[in-house]
Amino acid sequence: MSDSVKKVIKEIKIDPDKCNGCRACEIACAAFHSKPKYSSFNPSRSRIRMVINEINDEWVAIRSSNFTKTECKGRSRYIINGKEYSECSFCSTICSARDVFKEPDSDLPLKCDMCGENPEQIPMCVQICSRDALTYSTREEEVQEQDEVKWEEMKIGLESLLKKHGLKKIKNAVIRLAKNK
Ligand code: SF4
Repeated sequence: MSDSVKKVIKEIKIDPDKCNGCRACEIACAAFHSKPKYSSFNPSRSRIRMVINEINDEWVAIRSSNFTKTECKGRSRYIINGKEYSECSFCSTICSARDVFKEPDSDLPLKCDMCGENPEQIPMCVQICSRDALTYSTREEEVQEQDEVKWEEMKIGLESLLKKHGLKKIKNAVIRLAKNK
């Protein structure tokens, strides 16, 4: 059973024609999400990454979206304004085919959070981009709260706990928690 709720949908539009590949967005994102905040500037922890193909003069900023365990069979190439973009250039999926969007120490997925709940908060990558290649907007929408989405998030969390602690410890912890309820 799902309820309908009003939700602010946040969007970041990316214009690859304006991007010059400076990678400031990667640094700003990594710094904002480091713990403590601004303590590290490691772009491999960024939730926005540059796909760069210098020969083809290709600079595309991609924000991380959903996690998938398996590679897709799509591998599309796009031709936009006569320019051909490489495979996966516009794909934001956190996928096993790429090393991007994974926390380097743990391999856990790094999903873009639009820099938090507050719709007034302009995401860090957008703030830092001096070329206006990234633009932020919001809109209100009536959406169904989907149980499956929550389950998908729970599954990712459980899998990482299992990887770290093993099934036995997790089972014991759940039994202990259930007893205290
Ligand atoms: Fe491109 Fe803007 Fe990111 Fe620089 S900050 S890489 S111009 S999207």
